[in-house]
Amino acid sequence: MSDHNPHYADCCPRCLAGPTRPASGIATGGSLTAAYRCPACRHVWSCSWALVPGRQLPPAPQIRAEGEAA
Ligand SMILES: [Zn+2]
Repeated sequence: MSDHNPHYADCCPRCLAGPTRPASGIATGGSLTAAYRCPACRHVWSCSWALVPGRQLPPAPQIRAEGEAA
């Protein structure tokens, strides 16, 4: 069995660099919301995936202080 995207990698939507592994992600139910930062242009984006068994999940995001503006 082969999985051509075992880390939920995604390409930068701005400069098309990549694919880049997610910096963090939140898995809920059967889906993963992953956050990315482009190593080339530093663009930040997120992507939702259906969870695939056997894939490596990204680390959980760091908790920010309450009230911090996004
Ligand atoms: Zn980029």
